[in-house]
Amino acid sequence: MANIKCSVTECAYNSNVMCDAPMIQVNHCGSEESNTSEETQCDTFKPKQ
Ligand code: SF4
Repeated sequence: MANIKCSVTECAYNSNVMCDAPMIQVNHCGSEESNTSEETQCDTFKPKQ
């Protein structure tokens, strides 16, 4: 998988500000069409235990 830098360190898949998940799913956020990065979200996010 490509290197994915992610600052969401609260996610269980985050390791040293990088994503360690084998794959991620990114979806629209709040609309059916995204025009800015703010209108996307990582659906694979999982809170740390
Ligand atoms: S799963 Fe998503 S939120 Fe979690 S570290 Fe990877 S890119 Fe970031």
